[in-house]
Amino acid sequence: MFSDFFRKLRLAVTIFVIFFIVALFAIIFGYDGTKLNFIETLEMIAIIFIMLMVLYVIVYYWYGKDYKCPACNKRFCLKKEGKEVAGRESVSVLVKANTRNRDGEVIGTQEQYIPGERVTYKITYICRKCGARCHSAYSKDVSKV
Ligand SMILES: [Zn+2]
Repeated sequence: MFSDFFRKLRLAVTIFVIFFIVALFAIIFGYDGTKLNFIETLEMIAIIFIMLMVLYVIVYYWYGKDYKCPACNKRFCLKKEGKEVAGRESVSVLVKANTRNRDGEVIGTQEQYIPGERVTYKITYICRKCGARCHSAYSKDVSKV
């Protein structure tokens, strides 16, 4: 849950920065109707340059953190090698079911817990730089019905 929030935050920040850069380009090329003088254009280019640096830092450090080799600390060098099921446990899964009338039209939704399984996957990565292997895990709830 927590990491999911950070992933969404990261995506939102990335989109915001890209949007900002696009907006600055639009101002430089006068799409919003304003004409910039030479100094203002230079200022805009400087801001774009700074924003591109920010974008680079976000991608390299914030995204790179997820793809960093724990052995040699190089980023973006992990290659997915395989995925295997590491464990299964019984859980209740919340599902939304449509309630229908006699004509088959959906008249509402109903939430209910049904028996399910939490499957934990282990993913193996291999580093392209140093050849070390590392693992990450994630789990997914699936209904049995
Ligand atoms: Zn490595």
